[in-house]
Amino acid sequence: MGTTWDGILEAGLIINNLGINLTDSFARTVNNGTHTRLWDDIWISNVRLADRFPRLYRLECNPRCLISDQRNISANNDLNGSFRWCWTRTPTGRTATELSELDNPLRTVTFRDDIDDGWKWKLNTNDQFRSSILTELINIKILSNDINSGTTLLNRLVPKKIEIFVWRARQSRLPTLCELNRRGIDLDSLLCLVCGNVIESVEHALFKCELSVKIWRCIFQWCIEPIPRDLNFQSMLQGKRIGLNPNDTSNTWQAIEWTTAHAIWSNRNQVVFKKKKMLCYIDLKRNSS
Ligand SMILES: [Zn+2]
Repeated sequence: MGTTWDGILEAGLIINNLGINLTDSFARTVNNGTHTRLWDDIWISNVRLADRFPRLYRLECNPRCLISDQRNISANNDLNGSFRWCWTRTPTGRTATELSELDNPLRTVTFRDDIDDGWKWKLNTNDQFRSSILTELINIKILSNDINSGTTLLNRLVPKKIEIFVWRARQSRLPTLCELNRRGIDLDSLLCLVCGNVIESVEHALFKCELSVKIWRCIFQWCIEPIPRDLNFQSMLQGKRIGLNPNDTSNTWQAIEWTTAHAIWSNRNQVVFKKKKMLCYIDLKRNSS
């Protein structure tokens, strides 16, 4: 179990480090107060009462108490915001001031003794946790903060999986033979699995392998655009070509190039893992007609 929780906590910290405050994004919705810690959970405003009223917290007899432990339950609800406190000594001076300041927020809460406490997720407008929304937030953070390229890897014209593919390639996380070898995996050969002539790097697999070049040539030919001499990973990231519309700011070229690179990589994986026949120029022409 320790490993599972360690994994969850580690994932939470990674998400926090992306700039998404996941740890504090869950807050209690208090009803009867039987599941919410009065001082240690976030349930009023966006801060723990222990942090907001630290002097008072130090005097609390039972710092881990639940709200229901301390509430005065009244049949007529007149004492809705009333609490019975237990201090290690009587609050005086600034601690007494904290106690009077605590009174106001407590009185704003409406307790429901017939309903258990719940949770709300503050990163969704309707307070419900959705993994799809968290995934989207993570993707946006990752893709818009690509540290190495200094450019955004967001392009609304392509599916998310293609943005992620480009990000992985940029981070040297595509498992080419060259990359697997660099990470210490013992391989019989590093030669490209498609042409068998050159060590397989990202640059080779996507742009220099003879089949990849044929595919790129087709793409540029269909777009009535000369194939650029500098076609490589960096130029693909930019995705701006001189051509029919040099002022194009719609990211259309970038979308075409990213999608093509993704198709080349998918095709390579089909050959490597499913032993399928490599897509060839004839197939490309047939598929396009
Ligand atoms: Zn090759």
